[in-house]
Amino acid sequence: MLFAIDLEGVLAPEIWPILGARFELPELALTTRDLADFSELMHLRIAAVSKRGLTLKELQTIAHAVEPYLGANGLIGRLRAMGNVVIISDTFHEFSDPLAMKLGGVNLFANLFELDPQGRIKGFKLRVRGQKERIVSGFKSAGFAVAAMGDSMNDLSLLRSADYPVLYRPVQALLDEFPGAPVAMNLDDALALFEAARKNLDANGG
Ligand SMILES: [Mg+2]
Repeated sequence: MLFAIDLEGVLAPEIWPILGARFELPELALTTRDLADFSELMHLRIAAVSKRGLTLKELQTIAHAVEPYLGANGLIGRLRAMGNVVIISDTFHEFSDPLAMKLGGVNLFANLFELDPQGRIKGFKLRVRGQKERIVSGFKSAGFAVAAMGDSMNDLSLLRSADYPVLYRPVQALLDEFPGAPVAMNLDDALALFEAARKNLDANGG
């Protein structure tokens, strides 16, 4: 079994609002929980940091200090004992690679920034956007049963393509998309649901 988990809002806090609070940019308070259109959200974020003239390096000093939620490491460790674990997220490697290391060096599939010569963010390369289901179907064709967990509308394709979707403290719109899907309100719930999925798979000869 392969566990494909969202990062922000599930294993760690949302990074952009933390940057917004630190640099007093209220525009950065919005996340994928508020705005489903990720490109629109990113254009808004880039416009806000550009207006302030912030470099990626300055943003990284704050982003790299973000710690996983309490219990996130424990969950990842327990999942690793039951299968493979990857994080599939709309975050950016430049922000979240250290977070993936703090989570025990778990594999991270995320997006990349494009910088101008001064080191300011001028755009982004979406490696993950719209490709979450392609990453999942790749794992499936390699023979994995895929369990997935996410909290927002940007996890829709990840959850839809998984064999076993878990909604984590979901926004209402996501809940509406998956009536009857298992919902975890904390990481202990999540572990129990994944253990059940793993047991079920074993019982069915997976
Ligand atoms: Mg999320």
